Amino acid sequence: MALLQIAEPGMSTAPHQHRLAVGIDLGTTNSLVATIRSGIPEVLSDEDGRQLLPSVVRYLANGNANIGHKAQAHQTTDPKNTIVSVKRFMGRGLKDIAHAENLPYDFVDAPGMVQINTVAGVKSPVETSAQILATLRQRAEDSLGDDLVGAVITVPAYFDDAQRQATKDAAQLAGINVLRLLSEPTAAAIAYGLDHAKEGVYAVYDLGGGTFDISILKLSKGVFEVLSTGGDSALGGDDFDHRLFCWINEQARLAPLSEHDTATLMVKARQAKELLSTNDETTIDAILKSGEIVQVTITAHTFAEITRHLVGKTMNAIRKAMRDADVSVEDVDGVVMVGGATRMPHVRRAVSEFFHTIPHANIDPDKVVALGAAIQANLLAGNRAEGDDWLLLDVTPLSLGIETMGGLVEKIIPRNSTIPCARAQEFTTFKDGQTALAVHVVQGERELVSDCRSLARFELRGIPPMAAGAARIRVTYQVDADGLLAVSARETRSGVEASITVKPSYGLGDDEVARMLQDSYSSAQGDMQMRALREEQVEAERILLATQSALDTDADLLDDAEQDALAKLVIGVRDAIHRSNDTSLEAGARQDALHAAVQALAKGTEDFAARRMDKSVRKALAGKSLDEI
Ligand code: AMP
Repeated sequence: MALLQIAEPGMSTAPHQHRLAVGIDLGTTNSLVATIRSGIPEVLSDEDGRQLLPSVVRYLANGNANIGHKAQAHQTTDPKNTIVSVKRFMGRGLKDIAHAENLPYDFVDAPGMVQINTVAGVKSPVETSAQILATLRQRAEDSLGDDLVGAVITVPAYFDDAQRQATKDAAQLAGINVLRLLSEPTAAAIAYGLDHAKEGVYAVYDLGGGTFDISILKLSKGVFEVLSTGGDSALGGDDFDHRLFCWINEQARLAPLSEHDTATLMVKARQAKELLSTNDETTIDAILKSGEIVQVTITAHTFAEITRHLVGKTMNAIRKAMRDADVSVEDVDGVVMVGGATRMPHVRRAVSEFFHTIPHANIDPDKVVALGAAIQANLLAGNRAEGDDWLLLDVTPLSLGIETMGGLVEKIIPRNSTIPCARAQEFTTFKDGQTALAVHVVQGERELVSDCRSLARFELRGIPPMAAGAARIRVTYQVDADGLLAVSARETRSGVEASITVKPSYGLGDDEVARMLQDSYSSAQGDMQMRALREEQVEAERILLATQSALDTDADLLDDAEQDALAKLVIGVRDAIHRSNDTSLEAGARQDALHAAVQALAKGTEDFAARRMDKSVRKALAGKSLDEI
């Protein structure tokens, strides 16, 4: 089977064809969208120059919704319809939600996922998240001036299938093509370029508004593996606010507060907490609806003291995650800080003391996940700059190929290709009038089909009869982000098509992948010789078929002696093919003998071919005037 051309849909993009892809950090408190511009990752701002989009949606009586800052402004005045921290409800039932009774929402315990009754009707967390995502998508399209190819959306490493699926559903609802869901710690590590750092163990400490996550990652050969995750899904910056709120209550000896006053004071507590990250002290001033006046001053030292137990909880979770990963403090090569709440100096100090190292914290901890996701999105969209290293994240462990004539493997997606990816290659028919093509999908590094793993077979039927080599059959391999391979074959002139879906990694353990790779290295030279021999055999079969076909139609162009001579050469090739299968002989010698016989036949038919050409030209010109020609 002659190899005609190789194309890589969506893989090779010229510089002017930069494909717009973004990274989205869909956070509990805030969400962000980032992209790569002129090779530099940056977070995109809204028209007022603000980068963080509060993950808040407020539903209005007219059925509309406010999203982000506008919604956040009504958190205290309209708490029932203002959904904050919706990420906590994604893919969760009512019973899974911690302290649901303390939240201001009118929950509806729907099967599968909890819903919230609002003035605009019952809303699911997927719908609410979709509104946040759609806002970010709009922001990206407005600032980049084009449609998005897709987005990488980050999720906590511990998110289960239901939570991931809910996130994907939300993206789909927002009209976003998800290039991949990426775990937040991996995104942060990528933002710090740790995928290019020395191989080893890294810890990612992520203290956000509502959650604390610790992830222990292992980097080897550019691939991050999550060794363990831990944390507390009900511990975050909000708890520091709450602790401070309680402290203010105690200090100001306040009477039990109304829902409204509680919300007002919580906002004040949060502002004070944030100020204490850069100030030694701050004063909380508030006039409550009850008429009470609050004025309390707190020092950074006192704040650290009253929240020490919360920081301590995070340390306990780190110890547990390290035990689970079977690593000790000495094994950890670096620590990355993520999440707005890691700005609190006493948190940084505690982490630094625990790991005996200064954590990576120079990238804004609110943006680091989005920036890492943008780097990944850019890569998945095919915007790899010339000379960039491959970022080996989710990759195909073994090459995916197709069986060609002679039992040979033509690799279509090479091993270590980042997924999702798609490649196509054109093939043609081997015989005159061939109407079907057998597609055999194989996996492995070896040259012969018999040494690779067979994944699937299907047939493309209904190819219109044509001369050998005239059909154009485009075979496309597509691996999606989940490692699912879809193979399709299409004859481009007639449009007939057939396809199949396979899960290539199914049933392949790491050991088996390693063994298959090892085999390919140790057999490389023998395989190459075998491949060359098989190719020669295919060429020999092809020339025999072509000669026979020419003799069938034009034998009258040769006299008897010439026909005898040609017959001898044909027998010579047949014998050589036969001998080429004799494994007692060395493969190189068999190939040389076969090559000589094929060359002799090719030379012996040159004159015959020229006469056939003359004949067909004469036929084409017969009866035509010079002018017509
Ligand atoms: P995230 O979920 O990562 O967006 O983090 C939001 C949390 O970070 C909230 O609890 C914020 O109050 C907190 N945060 C933001 N800025 C600061 C700061 N300067 N100091 C302390 N906490 C902060």
